[in-house]
Amino acid sequence: MNNESDETTCPLCHQGNGCMTHSKESCWCNSVTVPQDLLDLVAEAHRGRVCICRPCIDKFNNNPVEFVVSLQK
Ligand SMILES: [Zn+2]
Repeated sequence: MNNESDETTCPLCHQGNGCMTHSKESCWCNSVTVPQDLLDLVAEAHRGRVCICRPCIDKFNNNPVEFVVSLQK
């Protein structure tokens, strides 16, 4: 077993995503536009439930091709 479905873990890199889902404060991800192509990389079971972390969004925006390759390693 692992904790892939943990809401606090990024579904792409499996690092903490810093999401504020369970906080009274609004999550930073509400003010960030996540590219649809990046969302498409997230397993359907996690899509719309688990936040992608900010580093993954930044990496994708910088170089989508390299980011996708890095996920497949
Ligand atoms: Zn991530």
